[in-house]
Formats: sequence, structure tokens, C-alpha cells
Amino acid sequence: MSRLTGKVAVVTGGNSGIGMATARLFRAEGAKVAISGRDQKTLDEAVRAIGGNVIGIRSDVSKLADIEKLFTVVVEKWGKLDILFANAGIAKFAPVSDVTEAHFDEIFDINVRGLFFSVQKALPHLNDGAAIVLNASVVDDAGLPGASVYSASKAAVRSFARTLTAELADRGIRINVVSPGPVPTGILRRNGMSPEAIDETLRGLVSQVPLKRPGKPEEVASAVLFLAAPESSYVAGVDLKVDGGMGQV
Ligand code: NAD
Repeated sequence: MSRLTGKVAVVTGGNSGIGMATARLFRAEGAKVAISGRDQKTLDEAVRAIGGNVIGIRSDVSKLADIEKLFTVVVEKWGKLDILFANAGIAKFAPVSDVTEAHFDEIFDINVRGLFFSVQKALPHLNDGAAIVLNASVVDDAGLPGASVYSASKAAVRSFARTLTAELADRGIRINVVSPGPVPTGILRRNGMSPEAIDETLRGLVSQVPLKRPGKPEEVASAVLFLAAPESSYVAGVDLKVDGGMGQV
């Protein structure tokens, strides 16, 4: 397997879940991979677990200086980039009447502002013909109670892919979106939900999935690989749902 031999890839939020599974797959396909996250310890563990030709860089997507540092470090080590998977994100839920300013700002700071500036700051360091994949969600065009702010943040991600596809076409840079359905990762635990609440939430979501099971991080990673690799050279601006049919049927 060597679909990405000689390529340099950056995966934001690559120290766990879908990002880590994707970094592992990119690595297996021959890419050099830089992963970012906020916690040095989990970054170091992820680098060890994935193996050679992987570096971990502490970088918070909500801080523009951190994003710039991420790309500077990668380019100094490996030269220009071929792939960006803008994956870092958080998920928090509340009914509209309980949404606080802090809830709103945190989700938009990371999922929208952080993702947008990850793409913008990558641009000078991307080779022409590069591929950018944005991680949105099956809820980017759905109405899931309690998810008003999260869903809107992912709808913004989907929208970025449309405009940026048009803006960056002259450089041959393709932008696509991957939209996972329910995938058990640490994302719900990290937002403070109890194990019981997480189980109940996942059961509720999976009951809406025609394939009747949650997805695996590796299944999303396979779709990201397709969108990042030359085999998808005529695919641009799409929102590829990896959701067991949840948003389709
Ligand atoms: P996860 O919590 O395992 O991964 C999220 C990653 O983002 C972590 O590595 C975390 O460190 C990183 N991150 C969060 N805030 C950051 C910040 N400010 N700066 C840098 N890194 C930051 O969860 P996951 O499920 O793998 O989520 C990855 C992406 O997939 C997210 O954007 C999420 O919205 C999206 N998604 C997940 C699901 C799901 O069911 N798991 C469904 C749809 C979309």
C-alpha cells in the first residue's frame, strides 16, 4: 500500500479518535505525517503508537500563532505539504434555551474559526495540487435537538468547502468534506458527559442509522484517504457522508 508515498500530511487533532486513525492510515500508505493537538503527553503517546515518520506538534487551533507554528515546524522538517486533514473539533450539546455565550464561543472558536484559519495558514505551505479534507458531521444538514450550535458550526465547515473549492481551483487544490455519523471516540467523554449519558446518546443516534451500528474511526479514515489521494482527482467540493446511511435514507 503506497498511495501517499512521498507526500507530507498534517492532521489537526491527530492524537485521538478519527484523526489518529487517519494519521495511522496515511502513514501506512507511505506519507510523512504531522499530528497536532493540545496535549503533549497524548501527542507523544500517539506518535509512539503510530510509528516512524510521524511527528507530534502541540498546537491549539483556537490560537492563530499556534497554527502558524504548526506549519512552520512541518515545513522546516519535511518541506511543503500535500495534504491537510482539518479534523480538530469538539462536540457539546444543549437545548437552545440553555446555550451560554461560553458554549457558543468555544464551539465556534474551535470548529469554525480554528478550522478556517488552519486552512488559511496552510495555504502558503501547500504544494499546488494539494488536497484538503475538512471534518464536518452528518448533522451539518440535519436538525438534531440539542445540537443547534454544533450543527451550525459543521454547516459552516461544509460551506467553506464550497467557496474554497472555487477560490483555490487555479492552484489545483481540492477541498472536500467528510461527514461522519456516530463514531464512538473520546469526543463525548471530553465534553463532560457521564458514561451513562454517552451510552444513551449513542443508542439514540445509532437507532437512526440504517446499518444499525456505530461507525469506526478507521471507516472514516478510509474515506479521508480516498479524498486525499490522487484517485479522487476529479472530486471537489463534496460532502462525503460516512454515516451508515443516517443522513441518506
Ligand atoms: P476526539 O475527541 O477523539 O478527537 C478530537 C481531536 O481534536 C482531539 O485530538 C483533540 O485533541 C482535538 N482538539 C480539540 N480541540 C482542539 C484545539 N483547540 N486545538 C487542537 N486540537 C483540538 O473525537 P473525534 O470523534 O475523533 O472527532 C474528530 C472530528 O470528527 C471532530 O471535528 C468531530 O466534530 C468530528 N465528528 C465526530 C463524530 C463522532 O461521532 N465521533 C461524528 C461527526 C463528526
